Amino acid sequence: MPNIVVLGAGVSGLTCALLLAKEEGNNVTVIAKHMPGDYDIEYTSPWAGANVLPMNSEKDSRWERRTWPELRRLAAEVPEAGLHFQTARVLRRQADVSSGLKVALSDGLFQQSPWYADLMDDFRELPASELPSGIHSACEFTSVCINTPVYLSWLVGQCVKLGVKFKRATLNHVNEAAGMSAHGEGGKADVVVNASGLLACRLGGVMDAKVIPARGQIVVVRNQAGGLMPTASGTDDGEEEILYIMQRAAGGGTVLGGTYMKGNWEANPDPNIAIRIMKRAVEVHPELTGGKGIEALDVIRHGVGLRPWREGGVRLEKEKIGRTWVVHNYGHAGWGYQGSYGCAERVVELVDEKLTSRSLKDTEIDW
Ligand code: FAD
Repeated sequence: MPNIVVLGAGVSGLTCALLLAKEEGNNVTVIAKHMPGDYDIEYTSPWAGANVLPMNSEKDSRWERRTWPELRRLAAEVPEAGLHFQTARVLRRQADVSSGLKVALSDGLFQQSPWYADLMDDFRELPASELPSGIHSACEFTSVCINTPVYLSWLVGQCVKLGVKFKRATLNHVNEAAGMSAHGEGGKADVVVNASGLLACRLGGVMDAKVIPARGQIVVVRNQAGGLMPTASGTDDGEEEILYIMQRAAGGGTVLGGTYMKGNWEANPDPNIAIRIMKRAVEVHPELTGGKGIEALDVIRHGVGLRPWREGGVRLEKEKIGRTWVVHNYGHAGWGYQGSYGCAERVVELVDEKLTSRSLKDTEIDW
């Protein structure tokens, strides 16, 4: 029976563990420094909103295309997973369109006639009569918002049910994971899946200098967003500041964002940025406070998460490091949830390729 160790218990590692454990015969162990329930600047997943706003280019759309059907199914059929349907409204500002849509967040999301028009349900371009002032054009579609703490815990539960074992550990080198399987004699893993997120830049054997943080500051409030998740192609507050609003399922509060500050590791919320986030949110969506301004926002917490941004995009490939075969899955920037199943599906393919080649040519491969 193949022993697989997944390094990382963020949305990437947990989704990989789940899909690997569903494959007949796999023994899966998850090793992580941080687990659902923790809030730490080194652990991105709990800080995300999260919702589905497709943001890759059409060329790299596979991950989001393959993920959407599963997130939609969970929202429709599995309420305890913590997802619900909300209407996404993508606003392309006149100022950004005139300057060539140079947005900090992404290009794919704000394209006119985007590739995801045929993916997302109820996609429509808003008629001119429905456009707010200063908005060049806009589209709407049915999306989901994920209550991330609930969803991450649900993923752990699904994994445990399928026999996945969990261990807490801080590793200095990716190869250490190979000796930490909780299954079989001697704890030897056949393959390690590296889902270490931002910390891939500091993990021995990987040390990927292309990975840097894209700092996201948020404000979580008790106010309701009424089923609408607006986002805009830019703001008047500089290229590092962005705008989005989403109400989490199952009492998770409403997340107001945000920032996209590349290379910035600052863990503490900046109060001036927080004020600007709240002002922009209330301006674009006055329903949040019944038209009363930011004083009527009821703040649950201010937070900062660091998106694992990677120059050149996500790393999804296998590599032999020392005597260990490693399948990498990190560097998802701001789309780790909305690409989670597509990427994990690719990880399963890569792990299967490795295991199959081992069973066919066992003696030729140095494990
Ligand atoms: P992480 O969640 O950081 O997990 C990494 C894991 O690896 C952790 O368990 C950690 O402990 C472990 N690890 C790392 N190194 C070691 C080591 N040496 N030893 C042991 N364990 C180790 N995405 C969306 O899809 N939609 C959104 O709306 C969205 N909004 C966002 C808003 C904000 C403010 C932020 C910050 C992010 C947002 N994202 C969103 C992006 C998303 O959160 C990330 O892409 C995703 O969480 C990355 O997950 P991960 O599992 O790769 O990394």
